[in-house]
Amino acid sequence: MSRKIFVKLSILLVAILVGGVAAAWADNETAPGRDPKQPVDEAYTTKIKKYTTEPYFSSPLVDYLPASKTVPTPEAVLGDVAGAPGILPYAEEVYKYMRLLEKASPRVKVFSIGTTEEGREMIAVAVSSEENLKRLDANRALLAKLADPRTIQMNDAEAEKIAGQAVPVYYITGTIHSPETGAPTALMELAYRLAVDESPYIKEIRDGVITLITPVVEVDGRDRMVDIYRWHLAHPKEFYPPLIYWGKYVAHDNNRDAMGVTLKLTENVLNTYVDWKAQVLHDLHESVPYLYDNTIGDGPYNAWIDPILADEWGMIGWRNVADMTKFGMPGVFTHGDFDTWSPGYLMFIAALHNGISRLYETFGNGGADTRERTLEPEEYARTWYKQNPPLPKTLWSQRDNNNYEETGLLTSLHYFNENKRLFLTNFYLKAKRSILKPQAEGPAAYVLPASDTRPTLQADLLRVMEKQKVEISRATAAFSVSMPVKEEKKDKKEAGSKQKEEKPKTETREFPAGSYIIRMDQPYSRIADALLDHQYWSPDDPQKTPYDDTGWTFGELFNVQVVRVTDPKVLDASMERVKEIRVRSGVQGEGSVLAIDNNAEPALATLRYRLKNATMEAAEEEFEAGGRKFHRGTFLIKGVSRADLDTATKDLGLEAVAIASAPNVPTHPLQAARIAFLHTWLGTQTEGWWRLALDKLQIPYDYISTQTIANIPDLNEKYDVILFPPVGWGASPAAIINGLPTGWGNPLPWMNTPLTPNLVGKNDSTPDMRPGLGWEGVAKLQRFVEKGGVLVSVMDTARFASSIGLTIGVNIGSSGKMKIVGSVLGTRFVDSASPIAYGYGEKLSAYCDDGPIFSLTGTVSGRRQRHLGPEMHERPTGRGTLDDPDFVVGRPVAKAPEQPEAEDWENPPLTDEQKHNNPRVIPPAQLPRVILRYADAKDLLVSGLVEGGGEIAQHPAVVDVPAGKGHVVLFSINPVYRGETEGSYSLVLNTVMNFDSLNSGRKDAAK
Ligand SMILES: [Zn+2]
Repeated sequence: MSRKIFVKLSILLVAILVGGVAAAWADNETAPGRDPKQPVDEAYTTKIKKYTTEPYFSSPLVDYLPASKTVPTPEAVLGDVAGAPGILPYAEEVYKYMRLLEKASPRVKVFSIGTTEEGREMIAVAVSSEENLKRLDANRALLAKLADPRTIQMNDAEAEKIAGQAVPVYYITGTIHSPETGAPTALMELAYRLAVDESPYIKEIRDGVITLITPVVEVDGRDRMVDIYRWHLAHPKEFYPPLIYWGKYVAHDNNRDAMGVTLKLTENVLNTYVDWKAQVLHDLHESVPYLYDNTIGDGPYNAWIDPILADEWGMIGWRNVADMTKFGMPGVFTHGDFDTWSPGYLMFIAALHNGISRLYETFGNGGADTRERTLEPEEYARTWYKQNPPLPKTLWSQRDNNNYEETGLLTSLHYFNENKRLFLTNFYLKAKRSILKPQAEGPAAYVLPASDTRPTLQADLLRVMEKQKVEISRATAAFSVSMPVKEEKKDKKEAGSKQKEEKPKTETREFPAGSYIIRMDQPYSRIADALLDHQYWSPDDPQKTPYDDTGWTFGELFNVQVVRVTDPKVLDASMERVKEIRVRSGVQGEGSVLAIDNNAEPALATLRYRLKNATMEAAEEEFEAGGRKFHRGTFLIKGVSRADLDTATKDLGLEAVAIASAPNVPTHPLQAARIAFLHTWLGTQTEGWWRLALDKLQIPYDYISTQTIANIPDLNEKYDVILFPPVGWGASPAAIINGLPTGWGNPLPWMNTPLTPNLVGKNDSTPDMRPGLGWEGVAKLQRFVEKGGVLVSVMDTARFASSIGLTIGVNIGSSGKMKIVGSVLGTRFVDSASPIAYGYGEKLSAYCDDGPIFSLTGTVSGRRQRHLGPEMHERPTGRGTLDDPDFVVGRPVAKAPEQPEAEDWENPPLTDEQKHNNPRVIPPAQLPRVILRYADAKDLLVSGLVEGGGEIAQHPAVVDVPAGKGHVVLFSINPVYRGETEGSYSLVLNTVMNFDSLNSGRKDAAK
């Protein structure tokens, strides 16, 4: 079929479909279609048609713009229509337009909802009838009763009544992902339509719903993206720089923060969603042709959502597909392969606060260029859930994208309004069922015992709950509950072979006064339950490609005790609501020596840097003083007044104890080490979580790129420790060294210029992002370690450190069938005398994403000795039974020397033959020291998915490798991740503070 005929046919098809729409609506349901009495803005409408590349990429809802004598159209700010080629507004311009609307129309109100990390404003725009906007507070009070059914004594009849009166709130959020650029202009025009259009279809939405719009979620990233686009327009023939920074800290992961709420944008949207008592949070993304409503998605669904929500996803999503399909718009679908397991997505704020989460992936061009787009076969294939798939090849414009976004939103708002009574009742019902959790599926509460030895970490975890609007109580007296007795895990071989011993099924557990109780009989119990519970993703699950992390259990990752209590008696304990999380702190006791016990709390490092001039020593052994036991790594502080230490510790929630005299144990200095924080120009997101953690802890560092290393004359003169956090996306050593190709193309600047005033923000800059570390940089890093510096490397940067020969005695293997997708794994401390382990117990739960798998070698990577003959595991063929020795006829039995054996995390001992005249043998003092290892296979999985875990079980997780006078510390886990892993931060912070004493406690070497 020629293109021309195809287009003509398509127009015909659209005409038929649109013509048939009226008959497709339910009784008394208003069909889309403009009000013939209201004039159309002809010039604007002509441009909409001009920028829409095919008629079927539009709908009767957006193919015209109603005219208004008083209200300005988006053209007033953009200089053209929404979605026009070449035009991307800065956030400020979008806000300017929204405020023009507010000024011109009583149907629009703009609210400031907070600022970003870089101080830019975030807004929410409410669009509804004048009457509704006048009654905002009264309406909010009605919605609040549905949001918290306790306020109406869970009276269903009362709730029904309110559901018939209240105006629901539908909250739309745009462009959280900065290269997904279309939403702001779509939302500008949507706000105009909702305020101005007198068509019955739109008027009903306006009268029946409060549409709340945050047009730009990632404001810092938006402004950088617009900069890049302007640069591209000014240099049309050149490659333009990739958007290496979005927000100050992270890029795409800003949509994985809805658990930890560490970013301002998450906090601001969460507060807005909860304050407005909204029923829906609908987040706009762009990556899939042409509109994928991915909230229905695929399994497994998050286990903690109310099934009512799953039903709502289905109702709204399939109806959305149906409506747009009837308009003749191709490529609209739902289902797809996205699972809704992880609650980290921004939209999930609604899912776990009794609302409805929704997410669109529309088709963006990463800017406002109109481009020919060619799809992959799987994208245009017709499948059962994609009956009208996208076209294999088409010209695609930002206006097309805006048409899809607006049409999808308007049909959703229409359907939501038509069924608002049901959705409001569901909103109430989900809240009520949250409150009934203790009696229904349970648990009754989570308890965080007052006896926890990590009060600052406990407080941090509780503050996450506070940000999530979870009610927290504190026991005013000791209490006890009945707990199920946990059966010990057994290896699969053992299990079932022996009969189960008779044991009591429950036991009593006591909790001291002051313990925190998170009651599950509250409206937002689901979010607390989802974050504090354990996750299990079966390796047999039909979903083979988890979309994101599979485990996140906060108590485990924060290294604090969180007890899941099913006994409803816990709710009768004497308790009070907590207004502020406070930790017992300050200086206690009398004596000349100030000591702070070490329990691996990150606040200790903050104290070290805050009191920079004080002398702090670490106790290398545990000791007792004043009737108290102090752990290894205890801080012994001199050179600071008691008053100053009291102020600092009160600020940080630490407890210092004045003891009579210095303990009789070896000590070494704790240093406020000078940190270089090394990043590449390949990806900055995974390290961004590290920056965020250090900034929150107020630990200073120089943020430098791999490009600068070669130009620093003497790294050791400036720095003690170089942190090289993961690059992400499995960056190869070659990519870290080479960067992007410089043999062709043009420089890719990341600098502030008049054309790009927002690029740099508070991060780094370069005239050309392409060059990497280079071989001179490699040599500098090697020299830095040789001369006594410490290099911390993690996952892909550990591979890099290994590839440049800095990790003698450690092999990094590749996995076969292992699959660990963002899971929480059990680990065990191997060498608690190492300063890196200070403050920890025997175990730690840690975040792992597929390794890498470390093994020690004992010799410098020589070729493996060739074995002749078969592998001998037991005994050779011969006389006797399996356990008997064989014999040789004609001579007495020769006793074989014992074969050296080692655990998977240990150095394999060498045989006498291997040691003979072998310069590759590593002397004891130079051997890598394993600090932490992965647990045995049966204890490996704490939360999430582990398949083929035997490959990594027992292998080293953290290794301290001596190199010259310095050290390279290798991490297989990621200890600093998404604000969720505070419990493992101290592994890094200990390394930093003890950088020049890492050999203390070494068994096999002189200091
Ligand atoms: Zn996205």
